[in-house]
Amino acid sequence: MKVLKVDHVGVAVEKLDEALAFYTGVLGLDLHGTETVEEQKVRTAFLPLGDTEIELLESTDPEGPIGKFIAAKGQGIQHIAYRVADIDAALSELKEKGVRLIDEKPRYGAGGARIAFLHPKATGGVLVELCERKGS
Ligand code: ZN
Repeated sequence: MKVLKVDHVGVAVEKLDEALAFYTGVLGLDLHGTETVEEQKVRTAFLPLGDTEIELLESTDPEGPIGKFIAAKGQGIQHIAYRVADIDAALSELKEKGVRLIDEKPRYGAGGARIAFLHPKATGGVLVELCERKGS
């Protein structure tokens, strides 16, 4: 398995508009676009930064993963995403090694990526997302 780079850092926020005011207005990052991912009950905003991106995540449903995360821990860094060239190969290798996965199969992620989450108990407490994008 080969990790190519940090694809993005996922940050859970209560209000996307307020967070964007900070990230674009104060830090001066460019907003690349927003997308609602129904399946994950989240509205996302991507802010490219050098070779990686910041992904802001606003919950659209208190029962969704970001809603639950904020209820338990408050706003903050929610996951780190590593770009891999072949997510299917990466997942079968991790399964072989007995790494606990949240997603056994890749699912749809914002921006058309194929993503899968590893369980934080298998990664030293960090929610890790694997991310495969066309052209990577
Ligand atoms: Zn992500």
